[in-house]
Amino acid sequence: MEEKSIQTSGSERIVLDIPMDFTLEQFAALCRVKPDSPAWEELEEALPLIRQYGTPGAIIRWANVERIEGDETTIEGVTFRSKVVADKLRHTPRVFLSVVTAGDGLERSGEFEGDPFLNTYNAALLFHASITMVQYMKDKFGFDGSSMLSPGSLPDWPIENNFPLFDMIGNVAEIGMSLTEAGYIKPWNSGSHIHFSGDGYQNCSLCKKYDCVGRRARFNRSEYIRIFGTEP
Ligand code: SF4
Repeated sequence: MEEKSIQTSGSERIVLDIPMDFTLEQFAALCRVKPDSPAWEELEEALPLIRQYGTPGAIIRWANVERIEGDETTIEGVTFRSKVVADKLRHTPRVFLSVVTAGDGLERSGEFEGDPFLNTYNAALLFHASITMVQYMKDKFGFDGSSMLSPGSLPDWPIENNFPLFDMIGNVAEIGMSLTEAGYIKPWNSGSHIHFSGDGYQNCSLCKKYDCVGRRARFNRSEYIRIFGTEP
């Protein structure tokens, strides 16, 4: 995998060029398409174009957790106010900040215009980029970054927190990312995170959208009450 490392104020910032090294079977699994599905053939046909035009990418950056007091967490001079962030980073001196994206290469190619599976392909590219990024943290630094906090995933840490997080990571335009005025990420199949080594935390465990189809962890009522001090 291509990587470009830049030292910023003592913290290494690394731009990852995510390789398109997945097999048809692996990409189909990311798309949740089974071999006996009618969509299999379409996917098989689309795969060379996805490999040719897809532009997934990620930037990661080490950062030091400097202070935690009440619901305030200061990371390299920037203070975030969130009960979950403070709770999860309480015993964590160092974190990885990240932005990761499917990119907008498929849209820009014009090859997928009107394709009803375009969003599925982009969601799979984002998933692939995220897995590759977390694996890179593990292989290169021995850091288990699979526990992550993301602005906007819970009301406790709203989407506007993307502004300081993006500033800390710096030059996200390098991989084609930007924020809308409200703090939402473009391209749409993208994410931003604070990774901490720890308890396998997933935002879903505290999220009250009980019927969400994308849920990756069961709702944890006792943790919710412990952190927020109220009934869900
Ligand atoms: S349950 Fe759904 S909405 Fe809630 S954090 Fe998980 S994926 Fe996001």
